[in-house]
Amino acid sequence: GVLALGLAACSGGGAGSGGAEGGTDAEPSDLTIGVAMPTETSERWIADGDAVKSQLEEAGYTVDLQYAADDIPTQAQQIDQMITKGADLLIVASIDGTALANQLQAAADQGIPVIAYDRLIRDTENVDFYVTFDNYNVGVQQATSLLVGLGILDAEGNEAGATGPFNIELFAGSLDDNNAHFFFQGAMDTLQPYIDNGTLVVKSGQTEIEQVATLRWLQETAQKRMEDLLTSTYAGGDKVDGVLSPYDGISRGIITALQNAGYGDSIEAGLPIVTGQDAEIASVKLINDGVQFSTIFKDTRKLAEQAVVSAQAFLDGEEPEANNTEDYDNGVKVVPSYLLESDIVYADNIQSLLIDSGYWTEEEVAAGQ
Ligand code: BGC
Repeated sequence: GVLALGLAACSGGGAGSGGAEGGTDAEPSDLTIGVAMPTETSERWIADGDAVKSQLEEAGYTVDLQYAADDIPTQAQQIDQMITKGADLLIVASIDGTALANQLQAAADQGIPVIAYDRLIRDTENVDFYVTFDNYNVGVQQATSLLVGLGILDAEGNEAGATGPFNIELFAGSLDDNNAHFFFQGAMDTLQPYIDNGTLVVKSGQTEIEQVATLRWLQETAQKRMEDLLTSTYAGGDKVDGVLSPYDGISRGIITALQNAGYGDSIEAGLPIVTGQDAEIASVKLINDGVQFSTIFKDTRKLAEQAVVSAQAFLDGEEPEANNTEDYDNGVKVVPSYLLESDIVYADNIQSLLIDSGYWTEEEVAAGQ
């Protein structure tokens, strides 16, 4: 519009500045943004997809949003199609962070900027920007909440007195998701001193990420592994006191296994402390009911907003603003990143973090859906 043209002229730097600033002269409505999301089986990705789509549409862009049912070839094909259909920019939350090099080469050949969304895309030069949360700190928060639940730390992070020894088990996410490594690293750096001084005992001895990972973050896979751990390690009468879980779906699988093995229906009745991530509504209800101990709230609305701001910068021929240019090396280069902060959710701050912010309503928390 006229106003936009006027502003562009003003910021052009006066007479003689001339020259192409990059970007495009097209109106937003002429521009299509391809948004590739991994799966609809976890509600966070539905929330992410909805938020990115609606915010881009509000800014006037056309959006091609696709979910890939956690199938790697499907996601590759969807991105190929977005490029063929003339996408002007791609926002990609990958399933396997190393599997998209061909697609992204095609994007680069056509000058299509690529923003990695939440999960880093690895082993390619052709990823221009990364919007995510501080993934290492998410892991620190998960481990911290486990220590709080066991009474080792208080909610302020000070030593609270409990010295155990407590039996714990560890779970990690999908090894092909770069985030899984950051979460686990942050968690282990936090737990290791307590393992070293004997406060925590990983009774199964399984402490390497390869031993504790959960392919595709699947609830059933986690439930099965917890069942196997109970049989292999705890059949003699020892009890599990805590479980580090990296994601709410995995937490629910773990809790089901524990309940089926007679640990009781709530923490008060004997369930171990189980952590989580994403503040999925089913888990928020479990936390409210004293069944799951904690989760990590990552406000997907804010991540979507950051993706949209970054997309607009590229389409205006500018570089998006990064707040981290060192931590996310994708194997080929360090990808400039924008990191958001996350919060630990306990039963006593569901109201202030999740309900007051409008993420979930009180009714949804009560119903678990
Ligand atoms: C995301 C987490 C999510 C997990 C499983 C990770 O890449 O960062 O928020 O829990 O994938 O979907």
